[in-house]
Amino acid sequence: MSYEALARRWRPRRFEDMLGQEHVLRALTNALDQDRLHHAYLFTGTRGVGKTTIARIFAKSLNCEKGVSSTPCGECSACTQVDDGRFLDLIEVDAASRTGVDDTRELLDNVAYAPSSGRYKVYLIDEVHMFSKSSFNALLKTLEEPPPHVKFLLATTDPQRLPITVLSRCLQFNLKELPDQSLRPYLSSLLDKEKVSYEALAIAHVAQAADGSVRDALSLLDQAIAYGQGKITAPEVEAMLGRFSPSRLYDVLDAVSADNAEQVFKQVEELAAYVPDYSYVLGELLALLHQVATVQTIGNAHQGDVHDEARLQGFAKNISPQDVQLWYQIGLTGRRDMPYAPNQRQALEMTLIRMLAFKPFTAQASAPVPSQPKSAQTAPSVAASVSVPPREQAAKAPVAKAPVARTPAARKAPPAAPSVQATQATAEPAVAEEEAAPELPPADINWKPSDWVKIVEELPVAGMPLQLARHCVLHSAAKDQVHLELDPEYDTLAAPRSKERLREKMSVYANGTVNLKISIASETPANTPAMLEKKAEQDRLEAARTSIAEDPLVAEIVAKFDAEVSTGSIRPVDDADQQEP
Ligand SMILES: [Zn+2]
Repeated sequence: MSYEALARRWRPRRFEDMLGQEHVLRALTNALDQDRLHHAYLFTGTRGVGKTTIARIFAKSLNCEKGVSSTPCGECSACTQVDDGRFLDLIEVDAASRTGVDDTRELLDNVAYAPSSGRYKVYLIDEVHMFSKSSFNALLKTLEEPPPHVKFLLATTDPQRLPITVLSRCLQFNLKELPDQSLRPYLSSLLDKEKVSYEALAIAHVAQAADGSVRDALSLLDQAIAYGQGKITAPEVEAMLGRFSPSRLYDVLDAVSADNAEQVFKQVEELAAYVPDYSYVLGELLALLHQVATVQTIGNAHQGDVHDEARLQGFAKNISPQDVQLWYQIGLTGRRDMPYAPNQRQALEMTLIRMLAFKPFTAQASAPVPSQPKSAQTAPSVAASVSVPPREQAAKAPVAKAPVARTPAARKAPPAAPSVQATQATAEPAVAEEEAAPELPPADINWKPSDWVKIVEELPVAGMPLQLARHCVLHSAAKDQVHLELDPEYDTLAAPRSKERLREKMSVYANGTVNLKISIASETPANTPAMLEKKAEQDRLEAARTSIAEDPLVAEIVAKFDAEVSTGSIRPVDDADQQEP
């Protein structure tokens, strides 16, 4: 199948088509149009935010046959060669794979030669911090006396690892991660052009999972299109990413604020069906609590999206600001300690139980008192210092016992001094923070390549790291060393952050610190979890088609009504079941 990845097809070809990075683009545009070009630029920032794209447009701007400007024609041979990735005077180097001084010397030896067809040679050196010391020295020599026909574009995710001598010779720009709010309309407009139908919530999930990277967003969209067979729906993206509708979080908060333990467990049970990343679930619940607090303080949720305005307003009215603050603190602590819990779902449940335990004391105070000044409502500590016992008294209370004190019997008792409870609870996370997080010892594992599908199913991982794992095969795993091979078609999944998150989750799974190496396989492996799943899907579809074709009743209908079986409409039955959970 010759499907061209979205990221490749929609790579911006002009500065004005780029998403975000306005500050960088303005500086480059001005420099180009006013002929005030520096010879070396350093772009810092995470992956997938546009470094290579900027470099390519910059190379066109410098070499367009119509002249140097920020608006290259896009039609001359220089422009089209750059667009096709075959312009000889744009030299792209991945420093991560060229760390030897010989490599660099060979590269920089050629700097002296005139461009082969263009006006300027443009060197894009990505991940430049990976250069060895001697490579840096070789680079530095060139940067000190650059030939006039050479421009350097250096890019790094880790500028602190660059020698100051190199830094001082570059004009530095920080590329920003793209916020959800600008990614979403971009993705939507792109799908419109692709004539792919989609649900807004599905796009919101993708934008959020991409975590600021356009490239990741587009690679997730590619997968969503393949997954949904041309149509992108929220439930399918949720299943793909291990996400769920935000309304489920509202349901959880509903249950907590109603002090309904049974309902809380039921909600967690339903969430578990999505095999979510529980740390993500708790993070989203914290974000929701933050929105509630913001509405209570300034009347609206000043940032982020509100999934359900009416319900949010309801929470703001019915939950006391003290409870919101408390639950936020409890959630924060719970989330931080999650990696050390034996089981992630259990950790989420424990955190919610804690929130429940704190609930009844302030239940009566839950309707905001109109005359109370807003500033006193924002934090329990403020409320405490205004109205009730001094902090020292609260601090003396046995901190560790705080949640235990709320036995069911005690919970029914009238609130003796709500603010004391509130202050105790906020003191608890502060104390816990002083304890160093326990380091896991090195893992001692012995996984066979054939175990990999099962391991991926059981890994407590979602989003990009899950996709990364799904497109890998296990090459070897012994003691604390794990070596995966990634399907080369999905090499964009191997972003450092995804890899690190996968490593962390593997360590949790292995109950010991794992060292993870991921190399790109030389050819597409046939047995990645993603490939096996796809094949199983096709087999089931084939089996369904065969059974239809051999079904005597169908044959009879076909004969009697001169009918035709529309094979495209056949879906295995259990497949249809899965789509309606
Ligand atoms: Zn041109």
